[in-house]
Amino acid sequence: MSLPLHHPGDALLMDYAGGCLGEAGGLVVATHLALCPGCRCAVAELDAVGGALLEELEPDALAPGALDRLFARLDEPPPYEEPPTPPRIAPPAVPSLIPEPLRRYVGGNPAAMRWRMMAPGFQCVDIPLSRGERARLIRMKGGAAAPRHSHEGLELALVLDGGFSDALGQFARGDVAVGDGSIDHKPVADPEGCLCLSVTLGRLRLTGAVGRFLNPFMRL
Ligand SMILES: [Zn+2]
Repeated sequence: MSLPLHHPGDALLMDYAGGCLGEAGGLVVATHLALCPGCRCAVAELDAVGGALLEELEPDALAPGALDRLFARLDEPPPYEEPPTPPRIAPPAVPSLIPEPLRRYVGGNPAAMRWRMMAPGFQCVDIPLSRGERARLIRMKGGAAAPRHSHEGLELALVLDGGFSDALGQFARGDVAVGDGSIDHKPVADPEGCLCLSVTLGRLRLTGAVGRFLNPFMRL
């Protein structure tokens, strides 16, 4: 299997690692990670940097008696822990067309999904997410062309099968196309057609600042 050539980019990976991306954007990035070892490594490094930054924070003053309670707990026997159970199903030797975590939302068999017609040559399955966010699977027939369009928010499209081309390039399995309001594009499906996961995000804070790692923790 060839590796993806188009990646979400540093800003989106940082938002994902910092937990700022929301469920829809997170679903696209996490599914891309299942297909892209390079971005998996990048997110692991970002997690490590985020953890190191947290350790740099000044600790709060201890509550009265906290140290005594801590020492008392150290004298207690360790809690019983269930031994880890081995996974019941071995991971497939051939990666599934619909990898996790997307598989958890829509299942693994596109033929069993409830497709609805969007336009000639275009079908979709809506994926309801929590907090009113939405994602969709889109299936394009070979050679089908979407109307030229741009986006108010940020559109992320992850190719799962086949591919498409637009002004930004050619996109195949695992590739993520990132379109914003400045891009006016007209995707055309490859001859074998295209299956992709698509989300449009209204608002995103893509400042790329390292401080955003701390945003989710500061809001607690
Ligand atoms: Zn990648």
